[in-house]
Amino acid sequence: MKKELELEAMSTWLPTNGLPAVISGPCSAETESQTIATAKQLAATGKVNALRAGIWKPRTRPGQYEGSGAEGLAWLIQAKKETGLPVTTEVANASHVEACLKAGVDILWVGARTTVNPFSVQEIADSLKGVDIPVMVKNPVNPDLELWIGALERLNKAGIKKLAAIHRGFSSFDKGPFRNAPMWDLAIELKTRIPELDILCDPSHIAGNRELIALISQKAIDLNMSGLMIESHINPDAAWSDAKQQVTPAVLGNIIEGLVARKPSTDNKNFKDTLAVLREQIDQLDDEIMQKLAKRMTISEKIGQYKKENNVTILQVGRWEEIIATRLAMSMAMGLSEEFIKDMLKLIHNESIQIQTKVMNKESERV
Ligand code: PEP
Ligand code: MN
Repeated sequence: MKKELELEAMSTWLPTNGLPAVISGPCSAETESQTIATAKQLAATGKVNALRAGIWKPRTRPGQYEGSGAEGLAWLIQAKKETGLPVTTEVANASHVEACLKAGVDILWVGARTTVNPFSVQEIADSLKGVDIPVMVKNPVNPDLELWIGALERLNKAGIKKLAAIHRGFSSFDKGPFRNAPMWDLAIELKTRIPELDILCDPSHIAGNRELIALISQKAIDLNMSGLMIESHINPDAAWSDAKQQVTPAVLGNIIEGLVARKPSTDNKNFKDTLAVLREQIDQLDDEIMQKLAKRMTISEKIGQYKKENNVTILQVGRWEEIIATRLAMSMAMGLSEEFIKDMLKLIHNESIQIQTKVMNKESERV
């Protein structure tokens, strides 16, 4: 497979001793004292690898706090001096990039509202030509994987190799319990398409409330994501933006402490042997399932032929209802989920109908 991007692993530009990276800090840098106090408390937890704070805030509606602007960059740099933590902020255009490079910001990120716009992303990429700085790219607000990859490509073509993606969920009318629907399958598909790309998760913007952050963080770790970006504030309820989803640095420390570490593999021999045996059984069963499906489709073909000869319709609603009812009762008694079995039966039935339709058409061509 063609390598999509030229990348330098996140572990080279944000070392973490093999643990998932933790980037935390306020949604917005509000004042110098709030920025520095938050940074100090975060550093004291010993669980944070980089400090985040928004300087220019893209707000959905006008009239809300839109960030300190370039003035706040000095607060970030001061926080870095006092804690030793590298600092990162969001850039949305070339002048933001210029101000960050001048101030000495360590890592940049492109926000969800910017990733959707190829003009803006290209402007940022052009302003970074010849600069060796890490850039993290949040997913676009809409669930479009190509747009997400496109933004990474634009930066990569401009010479940025220290790239990572941030999964922050997707805007939708029907949100469920989340501010932004996680649609985990998009992040999984991105990792499948570009396995060497580090993906971080931003549980704060997915959740929209502080109660769900731990749960989403664990899910991200279980999916082998490279890190977490979590918003924190010395006084979350008084935050000037995203108050409901921010936690204190102490709570952030507890969330990270409470995560169960899981690795994609282990060197433990017993584990490897047992896994190999179980996988052997799965391979065997998949083989049997394929053979049974092939046999079932051959019989469908015969039925199609027989129906044609007797001028009987392909779809017989009564028979289909009977299949659903009997198979569902049986599989549920075996502990299989109703939704899964219904979906699977629908797929099998659709394929049968397609096969029988082909048989009918072939026959009619001969007439
Ligand atoms: C943020 O990180 O504060 C932010 C504005 O995020 P997003 O681009 O994910 O909305
Ligand atoms: Mn925010």
